Amino acid sequence: MIERVVDFNRLRGMRCGSCRNEWHANAEWLDRFDQGDEACPKCGTDCQVEERPNFWAVHDDPSYDDSKVRDTYWYHTSTQANWPDRALDPTARLTDITKQRMHDIGTDGRALERWAQGQMTKALHLGTYEAAVENMLRRMTNQDGADDQFYLYRVRLSRNAVIEPGVHTEPTNFVGDVQLAEVCAPGVDTFRYVNTHEDPSSVSLAVTMHVIQAVQSISVPLAVDAAHPWVSDAAARLLYAASLPAQQPKTTLERMRRHMPSALSNEACKLEKEVADTLPLRLRGRFRSGFDAASLTTNPSAFPSKLAGLAQLVGTPLVVLDLLDAEPWREV
Ligand SMILES: [Zn+2]
Repeated sequence: MIERVVDFNRLRGMRCGSCRNEWHANAEWLDRFDQGDEACPKCGTDCQVEERPNFWAVHDDPSYDDSKVRDTYWYHTSTQANWPDRALDPTARLTDITKQRMHDIGTDGRALERWAQGQMTKALHLGTYEAAVENMLRRMTNQDGADDQFYLYRVRLSRNAVIEPGVHTEPTNFVGDVQLAEVCAPGVDTFRYVNTHEDPSSVSLAVTMHVIQAVQSISVPLAVDAAHPWVSDAAARLLYAASLPAQQPKTTLERMRRHMPSALSNEACKLEKEVADTLPLRLRGRFRSGFDAASLTTNPSAFPSKLAGLAQLVGTPLVVLDLLDAEPWREV
């Protein structure tokens, strides 16, 4: 099996939408490009037009080779402990009123059944280790998922996977639920696309559930011991900040605010920033782990332990892969 080298700082593949020129770019170049200060090295197209250069897979990526897709480990993060669950009833989370309303749509009384069928056959997304971790960070930041328990899955595909030839651009409708039949020929169950959002320029897969043969999984972020020097020091800083009296507004602007941030929430932000600053620039804005002041008295090291655990996923991926290696494969 192929285990790709994990590298959150790798050069990104680029392709010009105008002249199709391809090249590699580093984080600094991409930052300047987004500011309008860089352009396609061949034709000068910049970021402001529709044919702008965008991320594109590099040709030495093994995922480019049709024959290697089944031999590669793929990754996914989910809040489901038993993902992918073939027995999961998609209607279980609907209220009776919603079920009744869906039942009443149309004339044949089968709208609910069709919806449930569509949920069971919608595409699942798999990608590189980096893409899976970045997806989790995005969900924690953007979708109020900071308190959710996440699981990292390593995925082995079925030998019988039917792969759509070629690597494609990400279909724009992939933001919502998508049926593979909408983008592939009948019978195809594995579709490759260039991920432009997570681990940009890496190849991701949209697959149907039955292509997933087996998974290994661990809970993430990793549990970091309370005795870890940074964690114990950070817990002491939080407890000290919590003991300080409420701050009084000093400036006019502060007096206009209804609530002054507490010394405790300021300290929590400082800790978060300290850890975020150790990550690649691109990921720093996606690092929000949700400080819960209520849990401080019962477990002062919970928040710093979570921060350190999240940073480990990026900083020491080999440790994470070793932990996955120790897990049994679960046939799906
Ligand atoms: Zn160009």
